Amino acid sequence: MLTLQGINEVRDYVKHWRITGQRFALVPTMGNLHAGHLRLVEYAREFAEHVVVSIFVNPLQFGPNEDFKNYPRTFEADKTKLISSGTELLFAPSVDEIYASDRERITRVDVPELSAILDGKFRPGHFAGMATIVTKLFNIVQPDVALFGEKDYQQLQVIRRLVADLSIPVEIIGVPTVREADGLAMSSRNQYLTAAERALAPQLFHTLDELAQELSNGRCDFQRLESEAVRKLSTIGMRPDYVAIREASSLTAPDNASNNLVVLAAAWLGKARLIDNIHVHAKRAQVT
Ligand code: AMP
Repeated sequence: MLTLQGINEVRDYVKHWRITGQRFALVPTMGNLHAGHLRLVEYAREFAEHVVVSIFVNPLQFGPNEDFKNYPRTFEADKTKLISSGTELLFAPSVDEIYASDRERITRVDVPELSAILDGKFRPGHFAGMATIVTKLFNIVQPDVALFGEKDYQQLQVIRRLVADLSIPVEIIGVPTVREADGLAMSSRNQYLTAAERALAPQLFHTLDELAQELSNGRCDFQRLESEAVRKLSTIGMRPDYVAIREASSLTAPDNASNNLVVLAAAWLGKARLIDNIHVHAKRAQVT
């Protein structure tokens, strides 16, 4: 596996694949790699002949009081994992390489509405920061296909929208969430949990799963289901930001006839902000 830090070096390296018509995939990450990230690489190998992974902890998507400085950075261990995953090129630029000197005034990519709801309400500027780096990575690497985890469901919808709106020629693939044996979605931020918090953390998934069962059985008193779940999470010691039942592709509020739903949640547990979601194909009465 080759590791490159420079934008121009990456462009030169992938040029040969493009000219000779070989498909290549991009898997953007912030490093501290776990089995969820490696599943993305596995999928990528099915969709393309070559896999490029990027590791970049993007300052633009962290709020001023968020964990940019403390975000876990484990570069050497990440490299070892990527080598055994079949990754061919690792792009690991510095902050200066990506943003030069004037990060505050950089052009930003904004996907309105989708970026302002749910997590966007609690993390102002987060999705614009994420959309900006993803757009830059697409322009630098110019992959045929890019893979993102469904764990960050709203992020995936924002990316699908920006690629469509800006006519970026890349296919976006969503990859199902990889979980620990007890149901907790794998995340770099899980390591902020104490042992006692870690034991509680799977309750986020289990609460969403129960809610999803209710929806599958035909319940459509959405607000009541949401507030019951919020109450349940609060009772066990989490501090939920939201639990929301939404239409799966637009993330708008569903009506009684919607049957393609997603239940999303974010909740604080100690120093960790956990997010999770479950897709639900609900049975609904036919509306005529
Ligand atoms: P991150 O390094 O957290 O920015 O994540 C990089 C990519 O890995 C994103 O597309 C995430 O959605 C994806 N990802 C993170 N955790 C998981 C997981 N548990 N299962 C599947 N994909 C994941």
